[in-house]
Amino acid sequence: MGTYDLKHKLAEFEPWQRGIILENTSRVQLTDGCSIGCSGCGIGAEKGVKSIMPWDLYTELVDEMVAHWVANGTTPYWKNEPFDYHSQGKNFRDAYFYLGGGDLIYNFLSESIYVQTAVPKGSEQEVLASLDIVNDINITLHKTRLKNFISKVFEVCDDNANPLRICTWQKLGPKHINNLAKDTLSCEHGVVLTPSNIYTIRSVRPSTKHPYGYIQEEVIPDNFIVNSLSWDPQIYAREIDPKIRDKLHNEWLDEAPLVIDSEEKRLSWGPRMLQAYKYALKGELTSDKESWSLFIKENIRRFRNEKKDGFSPFEEKIFDEAELMIEEAKQILLPLF
Ligand code: SF4
Repeated sequence: MGTYDLKHKLAEFEPWQRGIILENTSRVQLTDGCSIGCSGCGIGAEKGVKSIMPWDLYTELVDEMVAHWVANGTTPYWKNEPFDYHSQGKNFRDAYFYLGGGDLIYNFLSESIYVQTAVPKGSEQEVLASLDIVNDINITLHKTRLKNFISKVFEVCDDNANPLRICTWQKLGPKHINNLAKDTLSCEHGVVLTPSNIYTIRSVRPSTKHPYGYIQEEVIPDNFIVNSLSWDPQIYAREIDPKIRDKLHNEWLDEAPLVIDSEEKRLSWGPRMLQAYKYALKGELTSDKESWSLFIKENIRRFRNEKKDGFSPFEEKIFDEAELMIEEAKQILLPLF
């Protein structure tokens, strides 16, 4: 297995830079490369696992993110296959729950961590034991290999399992340059931590210049630039009604803290998570009118009923902010439809 040097990489940054990196981490990529290596992978994963993030480093970084209130919304994979991960006796399921998957606030803010797998060879039992956290099984290019596996999935699936979806293949990347999908698979701006390096990532509309629909660049101490964490930024990439886009641009996108390059900016903006949530919420409203806000209100009501011991001050703050944002977003957006 290859070497890793994320720990050493992080040591090159000043404390305020390390804070910005961890506060804006949208993805922790637990392996460099993917063992399956589909031809035409829509996210640009390299074939073959080259290195793995040690479990003790992963937990150290997540602990630090949680201390900043920002781990909610971070996803523990990116250009890799989640179930390739094994380190120090831990696997992807452990990483998912350590980051907060299944947690009340996490689910509320990000609809839980979205897990998609193409079931690497040898991980079948592990995936079957984790159907409660798997959202998509990618069989598009693996029908023959996964035929027996899918029958087993239907045998063991019960009401507690996530509704499994069989995902469709997104035409992204150089292989599909003449027929690119309009939406990228990259759902967040922010920082990606891999076992060997640190990148800043920005979602864009797929194009010949950026055929995967994202721009990923190494973060370096001397020319420090980080994209601020923001969920569902496909609004930047999506084709929407120009009237709505202009309105959004004027009202919100100009405010959006897209890039952080100094300690002052870090200090002058509030918790990343709330910023990110604000833009995600507004993005959803543009595509689905009121249904998203109703969904959130319904969830708040359900959580309030379910959680008999009450909310922590932090949870209360999140829900209060969410309700305010829904009202603000509705007032600006709904007249446009
Ligand atoms: S399994 Fe997923 S991440 Fe891996 S190469 Fe195929 S599409 Fe890409």
